[in-house]
Amino acid sequence: MPVDVNRAATDVQWKAIQENDTSFDTTFFYAVKTTKIFCKPSCPSRDPKRENVEIFFYIEDAQRHNYRACKRCKPKEEK
Ligand SMILES: [Zn+2]
Repeated sequence: MPVDVNRAATDVQWKAIQENDTSFDTTFFYAVKTTKIFCKPSCPSRDPKRENVEIFFYIEDAQRHNYRACKRCKPKEEK
């Protein structure tokens, strides 16, 4: 069994999400458990609840956890 990784957002990551900070766009993605969507930190969509957020560093990793790329910020188009 895989180790249960702690994917909770750090304070820095959470702040970047809230402020839609584009400078974090290449460093991580956030996924929302309730919508099964993952986004770039700069996504203009409404902020989720912090406890529903999971942090991923790779698109493939988020997809493996059954998250879909957000149609608004299109994280898949970012390299
Ligand atoms: Zn998005």
